[in-house]
Formats: sequence, C-alpha cells, structure tokens
Amino acid sequence: MTFHKLSIRRKLGLIIAAFIAMLVVLATVTVLSLFAVNQRTAAVEQQWLVRAQILGQLRDHISGFRGAEADLSLASDAGAIRAAQVQAGRHRRAIGELQNQYENLAAADTHPDVAKFDAALNAYFAAHDAWIGAATSGAASDPAQLRRVLQSRFELAEAAIDRLVSANLDGAQAAARAASQLSRRGNLLVLSTSVLVLLLGLWLVVRVRRDIAQPLGGVASSLKDLAAGHRNVDVPELNRDDEIGEMARAVSVFRQHTQTLEDAYEATRAAQEAAQLLAQHDLLTGLPNRRGLASELQAAAFHAQHDAAVYMVLVIDLDRFKPVNDLQGRPVGDFVLSEVARRLRRAVRKRDTVARLGGDEFCVIAKADPGYKDGAILLATRLLDAIQVPILVGQHKIEVTASIGIASCPADGLDPESLLRAADIAMSRAKQEERGSYRFFELSMDNDMRAQAALEADLRAAVQAGVIRPYYQPIIEMRNQRVCGFEILARWNHPQRGAVPPDVFIPLAEQLGLMPDLTTSILREACRDARQWSNDIHLSLNISPVQLKDLYLPAQLLPILSEEGFPSSRLEIEITENALVGDIQGAKSILGLFQDAGIKISLDDFGTGYSSLYHLRELKFDKVKVDKSFVQTMQRSNESEKIIDAILGLAKSLGMATVAEGIEDPKTLDYLRAKSCEYGQGYYFGEALSAAQTRERFVQGWPHVVSEN
Ligand code: C2E
Ligand code: CA
Ligand code: CA
Repeated sequence: MTFHKLSIRRKLGLIIAAFIAMLVVLATVTVLSLFAVNQRTAAVEQQWLVRAQILGQLRDHISGFRGAEADLSLASDAGAIRAAQVQAGRHRRAIGELQNQYENLAAADTHPDVAKFDAALNAYFAAHDAWIGAATSGAASDPAQLRRVLQSRFELAEAAIDRLVSANLDGAQAAARAASQLSRRGNLLVLSTSVLVLLLGLWLVVRVRRDIAQPLGGVASSLKDLAAGHRNVDVPELNRDDEIGEMARAVSVFRQHTQTLEDAYEATRAAQEAAQLLAQHDLLTGLPNRRGLASELQAAAFHAQHDAAVYMVLVIDLDRFKPVNDLQGRPVGDFVLSEVARRLRRAVRKRDTVARLGGDEFCVIAKADPGYKDGAILLATRLLDAIQVPILVGQHKIEVTASIGIASCPADGLDPESLLRAADIAMSRAKQEERGSYRFFELSMDNDMRAQAALEADLRAAVQAGVIRPYYQPIIEMRNQRVCGFEILARWNHPQRGAVPPDVFIPLAEQLGLMPDLTTSILREACRDARQWSNDIHLSLNISPVQLKDLYLPAQLLPILSEEGFPSSRLEIEITENALVGDIQGAKSILGLFQDAGIKISLDDFGTGYSSLYHLRELKFDKVKVDKSFVQTMQRSNESEKIIDAILGLAKSLGMATVAEGIEDPKTLDYLRAKSCEYGQGYYFGEALSAAQTRERFVQGWPHVVSEN
C-alpha cells in the first residue's frame, strides 16, 4: 500500500509517529554523545590530573629529601643530624607512598618511563644509603666521590621524574585531545541528526501540505464556490481513496443535486411564468383577459395619478351575439369573437390595450389626448364601424353590432373595479337606449344602478320573506254579471317605497330568477284564501314567459293544489304569446301537463305580441284575453273595435272563451256584451283587492255586479 492510498487518519498517525521517533533518535544521540564526552573528561580528570598531582608531590618530596640530605651533610651536632634524618625519613616514606599510588593508577598502562623512574629513584636511594652507611661507619671512602655519585644519581632521578612528568603531560594532552575530538564528533552527530530530523520534518511538512492540506483546500474551495452559487465548479481529488476522496465525491454528488435542484427550480419558475402568462390571457383571442386587464388598468391609474395623464376605458359588448352561438354553433361563435378581437386590435393604436373581459365583452384602454371626449368619440365610432362590417364564415355572412360604454380615468375612478364598473354601467345604458351606440359614463347612471341594486336586494328579501301577497281582481261572467273568478295579481307593499308596481318588480323578479318562488308562495296563499269563498270561484294565475321554459313548473305548482285542497279544475293559467316564442314544443308539453291535470289555459294580452295564428292552432287554449289597450281605445278607434271583433270571432270559431280586460265604464261593457264576449274584467267591476277586502266584498257586493244573494 502506498502512502497515497492510506487514510488521512493513518497518514497523520504515521507522521506524528515519525516525528516522535525522530525526536527520540535526536534525544538519544544527544544524550549518548554527551555521556561519552563526559566519560572522557572524567577520565582525564581522574587519571591524568591525579597522576600529575602525584608526580608534582613526588618531585617536591624528592627535592625535600635531597634538601634533608644536604642538611644532613651539613649537620654538626646530633640534634641537627636527627632532625635531618627525620626529615629525610618523612620524605622517603611519602615518596614510597606516592610511588605506590602512582603505580596503582598507572597499572593500566605500563609506561617504560615508570620503570625507568623507579630504577633511577632506587639507584639514587641506593647511593644515598651508601653515603649514609659510609658516613656512619666512618669507612674511609672518598666522601667527595660519594657526593658526586649522589649528585649524579639525584640528577638522574630528577631527569627520570621530569620525563615521567612530561610523559604524563603528553598523556594528559592526548586524552584531552581525544576528549575534545569525541565532543566534536558528538556535536557533529547531534548536528547531523538534527539536520536529518529537520530535513525529514520538512519533507513531512511538504508531504502533508501536498497530500492533505492542498487537496483539502481544493475540495473546500469548490464547496465554497458551490455555496456561493457558482455552477460550473470542478471538484478535484475524486480518485483518491482516503477521506479527502470521499469528501470530494460527496461534494460532487452535492453539486449534481444542486444542479438538479436548480434545474427543477428553473423549470418550476418557467412553468409559473407560463402559467401566469396563461392566467392573464384569453386562450381564444390571445388578448389579455380580465386579470391581465386589471394590471394594465392599475398601471393606467398610476400614470393618471402621477403624470396627470387621462385614459379612456371602453367596455364593448356585442349585441345579439347569443343567437349566433345558439344558432350557428360554438365554433362559429368562437370565430366571430376572434375576428372581432382582431378588428379591435387593428382599430386601436399600438400602445393601446385591447382585452377580452369574457363572453362577448371586450375592453379597450387608450391614453387620451387633450380634448379627451372628441378622441373617445372618434375611437368608439371607429370600433363600432370595425365590428359592424359583416363577418364571413364559410357561406354565412354574420352581422354583429356592439354597444360601448366609456369611462375616463381618473375622473370616473382610480382602480380597475370602479373604472370597469363605470364603463359597464355606461355600456348597459347604451344597450338599453340604443343598441349599436356608445354612451359616456355619468354619475346619475351610477346612482340609477345603485338604486336598482338596492331594489333588487329588497326584492330578494321580500320574496324570501313572502311579503309579496296575492290580490284578487274579479272576473265577471257577462251573461249574468256575476263574479265567477279572480285574477291573482301580485302586490308588494314596501315599508319605505310604498306600493311597488308589478310592472316594475315582476320583470326584475324574472331577471333575478325569483319567479318560481314568488309564484309558488302566491299560489299557496291564494288557495288558502279561496277556501273562504264559495266553491265555484275560479282563480287565474299569471305565469311569466321565463317560467314556461322550466320543465319542472308543473311539478312545482300541482302539488300545491293538492296540498291546499284546491281543485285544479278551478285554476286557470295565464300566459302571453311571448312565452311561446323560441321553444314552442317545450311550452306545449308543459301546458299539456297542466291541461291534463284539468287546469285551463288563457292566452293573455292577445293582440299585442306576436299574435300568430300558428300559436292558436298549435295550442288548445281555453280562453283568450283581449288586451286592455284595445278595450280602452275601441270607443275612439275604429281599428281597435275591428280588432276586438276579429279576436272575438276567431276565438269563437276556434271554440275558445273570451275575456275582455280593462273595462272601465258601462258603455264598453254593454258593447262587449253585445258582441257576446263571455267574461269581463276591469275597474268598472273593481280593482285587485286583498284577501280581507275581498271577503268584505263577498258580504257587501262589488260595484255593478249582481249580488249572489
Ligand atoms: P296583466 O296580466 O295583463 O294584468 C292585468 C293588469 O291590468 C293588472 O295590472 C291590473 O291591475 C290592470 N287592470 C285591471 N283592470 C284594469 C282597468 O280597468 N284599467 C286599467 N288601466 N288597468 C286595469 P297590474 O296588477 O299592475 O299587473 C301588471 C302586470 O304584472 C300583469 O299584467 C301581469 O303581466 C304582471 N303580473 C302581476 N301579477 C303577476 C303574477 O303574480 N305573476 C306574473 N307572472 N305576472 C304578474
Ligand atoms: Ca293577466
Ligand atoms: Ca292582460
């Protein structure tokens, strides 16, 4: 296994161990060399210095001995001789002891000079002893001769000790040299070991740097780059087997994950942007939708507030687009809408906004030039003209018109809702007053709208609370001028508004889809009221055209009759011809169900609507009600009279009974009776009264009606 492949933990372990080992070696080498030098120095001190001391003392004692010898030779009395002899003996003993000491020390090296010194000293002592002997025995020998011998022997001994001293010095010098050499060598060893340790240490540092620190730094910096948001980051050291390799691979995986995450984030953002774009645009026309328009309107309002700019907001609603969709089919409808969108786009300036509000409603926002009204009129006219041009779909030529409402920003509002609302109100007004035209928003329109909205809210509440009650207008049988039934007429007595006319609230209730609830509550109450009257009295219930499109109408009304115990044969239903237009088959089947249940059907307001003979043929009406407009004008108008004659004749020939509405005077009554109109109704006999008032009438009688009793 190479060092490279070891784990970082191992590497660091090895490096620390190597360092410790090197330090141990260094310390050992240092201690050992210090120890060796120390030993050498001690040897020099113990051996050579002691020997030099001994030799010095030896020389001193030999000199002392020679001195005592001289004293002896000069001594004249016995005391002096004795003292000299004691002196000499002391020196000699000391010499002997020192000799022994020296020899003990020098036993290791048997230097030739030691033996020579011993011999020279012994020779000197021998000469001395001989001299002493001669002196004490008094033998006649030549004292001068003896002294000369003694002198020469002493000189020899002195020379021998000098040699010994010098030899000793040499030895000491050699030992000192050796010791210093050893110390030098030791120093060198320590130095070289230190250098080696240093080099090894350096090498280890370099390796740690190269193998660990630098790669770690590389991986760390790539991680740092990744964290800083850089994406094209190269991760080094991927092929290593150790922890750095593991770390590098982990960083690489992290980089991949980051990339994946970032890609996913990008994709989500793009999708969100696309969704936002989609959410702000209409798929069919590609125009901004209501939401997209709102931000444009907001921007316009901002400029209007801050840059004193004026914007026109035009709401464009197609007239009679619904029949196009219904009759030609949706694809044609879609084509028409796309074409209108294209034309609107072409008719405005590039910087103006065209949006589709939904259905057949569009909106244009245009920055107004000074003299805003003229510009708005020009623009509205241009838009109306553009839409008006027939649209060709295959062989069909489709003609649509539009009504336009114009609001201005900031005058009519500063937020999208109020601006659109203002333009919408103006558009509704245009539609009401003259389709295919434009109207500018006025505050009074808003007030009307608000009043209308309040009325609507009140009406809803009134229907819910059952406040709208049935009133009863008598229907007279002309033959005997008796009350044979009542037309149920709805009455709404509002606590603040007073009596709200049915011509006002009935169309509104129709618009608001309140008629089913209103009709059922009125019918139920009427059935209950009718219980108080004689049981041959009929009730006539008005049914709105919208209700006749509801297949569940019979299912709503018939159960009320059975629940309230009112025989269906005593109920009549009044419908107008308008109810039959569109889906005559549907109306026919609904009316058929009522007739099957025994309910009679009257055709109301006959002569004012479509008055199609086709309707009379298709549907078996039981009665025809001649509209009051003819009845009331017949005295003055020849035409009315003729129409009444025709209606009465037609009804008779088709086997239908006739009812004349709006009889207000006896002349009219007489005339109609003469024409043998079967039934009559009008203020002459009485207007619609409440249940209580009606009960009273049953007691007091109606005007111009033959009383029952
Ligand atoms: P309509 O069905 O033609 O009702 C007859 C209207 O003529 C009633 O007006 C009645 O009050 C009025 N009238 C009766 N006799 C005379 C007369 O001699 N001279 C004059 N000038 N008018 C006379 P009203 O009650 O105002 O009702 C108006 C319309 O409201 C009704 O016309 C009917 O279409 C509708 N309506 C009223 N109640 C109901 C209801 O409960 N359901 C439905 N669907 N419509 C109702
Ligand atoms: Ca009626
Ligand atoms: Ca009528």
